[in-house]
Amino acid sequence: MDTNGKRSFTGKVAFVTGAANGIGRATALAFAREGASVVVADVSEQNNQATARMIQELGGHALAVTCDVRRNEEVQRALNATIEAFGRLDFAFNNAGIEYTVQPLADLAEEEWDRIIDIDLRGVFLCMKHEIPLMLEQGGGAIVNTSSGAGIRGFKGGGAYVAAKHGVVGLTKSAALDYAQSNIRINAVCPGIIDTPMMDRFSGATTEGRQAVIAQEPIGRMGRPEEIAATVVWLCSDAASFVVGSAMIVDGGQTV
Ligand code: NAD
Repeated sequence: MDTNGKRSFTGKVAFVTGAANGIGRATALAFAREGASVVVADVSEQNNQATARMIQELGGHALAVTCDVRRNEEVQRALNATIEAFGRLDFAFNNAGIEYTVQPLADLAEEEWDRIIDIDLRGVFLCMKHEIPLMLEQGGGAIVNTSSGAGIRGFKGGGAYVAAKHGVVGLTKSAALDYAQSNIRINAVCPGIIDTPMMDRFSGATTEGRQAVIAQEPIGRMGRPEEIAATVVWLCSDAASFVVGSAMIVDGGQTV
């Protein structure tokens, strides 16, 4: 919303993965508050539909699509549904992801490596692969991929996740160069410790667990999903028209 209260994304269409919870849900709602129609995509059908209902309750337009970002045909189907419902694609937030269990690398099972790389990295590739042609066809767009502080530095016991999130940054930078002259801006966001269902699972959601993760945050608290959503909306807006291939750190100082 600008200083005159005008909604900047009226007539625009946003696609958000991992929209059933946490950062994805908050960002889907933020896009809707700016006036965009929003397609919410997630494997979690019920919560995803709940996000769509929240948008509709705000007076916005939303479509919920069940989609596993590991599956090429499901991603394609979700984006086809976006065009069928709303006729275009202006913004994509490729955010679906899973966390890791802390363990030294040699203890990491091959299947767990595959699962994390498939969802957290390959899923971002598949989404961009299908989003970019739609944006090229209509002459532009903006994409934001969710990386992490784990895309900037190492975390003890987080090998696969750290590799995937560094991969997201690399993929973002290369794709940003590929399409910089096609009016498609591609950036990543690197959140710190954000208070979401994922962080509850990671910390154990106990007072001690929460305090232990907050201890990593110089700002002295967890971030709110809305604080990441605000960054994503800004990265998609015209205010960020010269921001290309950036991995924007929004982390309360965690990686400083
Ligand atoms: P969350 O678990 O609260 O929400 C993630 C959503 O992704 C869920 O709704 C889940 O159903 C969905 N999802 C999982 N696998 C999927 C798949 N294969 N296909 C489609 N959807 C799938 O997590 P969150 O904390 O909101 O995290 C969102 C993103 O932010 C993730 O990529 C995560 O790695 C990243 N991140 C989170 C934090 C944090 O502190 N919470 C920090 C840095 C980065």
